[in-house]
Amino acid sequence: MRACLATPAIVLRAKPYGESDRIVSFLTEMHGKITGIAKGAKRSRKRFVNSLEPFSLVNLRFYERPQGDLVFILSSDLLFSFPKLVTSLDRISFASYLVEITDGLVGEGQEDRLVFQHLKNGLRYLNETDASLRFLTSFELKLLNLVGYQPVLDRCKRCAKDRRDHPSSRWHFSPRDGGILCEPCSRLRKETLPLGAAAVEVLTDLQAKDSSTPARRSLPSSVVSEIRSVVMRFIQYHMEREIKSAPFLYRFASI
Ligand SMILES: [Zn+2]
Repeated sequence: MRACLATPAIVLRAKPYGESDRIVSFLTEMHGKITGIAKGAKRSRKRFVNSLEPFSLVNLRFYERPQGDLVFILSSDLLFSFPKLVTSLDRISFASYLVEITDGLVGEGQEDRLVFQHLKNGLRYLNETDASLRFLTSFELKLLNLVGYQPVLDRCKRCAKDRRDHPSSRWHFSPRDGGILCEPCSRLRKETLPLGAAAVEVLTDLQAKDSSTPARRSLPSSVVSEIRSVVMRFIQYHMEREIKSAPFLYRFASI
């Protein structure tokens, strides 16, 4: 008899399957990302009542199956639904983005409790506080760090030229190299994005601090735009696909 496993989990996405089933992906606290089949999900209110909606925090019980990737979902009990996330379009959009990039950067079955905590904290923050690009950028940088893609921002990734020795230099970001490049090195790469000294400084600052730290100052829109382009392009590079929930973010102008 296979053991039934139980773990807190966040619903990442769900889609109908056949007449009455659903295929659901979860980020779990104990077993990484898993995808499973919820048999009779459309009919069984008892086992799945309101607990397969995206962003829901649930207690998941499932059986692993020896063959195939899909687990068999026994039940999903709602622990917390983050109710305020659905009260405004901004919050839904931000939450969708957090879930989508976490889903895209985490592989199936890679156990990582810190990533689960990070997504849970992010959704909780959005549920209680107004969304901002500053929060979002901090969330992205910490997520990149947790999954092993922390961008190198203190020196040129190719020639190791130290950024502090060249404070007024123009820098470029190379998604493929995973960090900044100096002007001469950037000419050797096809795909780089401009990143001025002010933008690198802000990114370095956000990488070191908690997102709840108040902003030091308001930033010119050109700097915000450089930062957003670089971080999103870098995430997309590792996800290897378009970020569907990203376009709305361009409506926000300040960080
Ligand atoms: Zn260089």
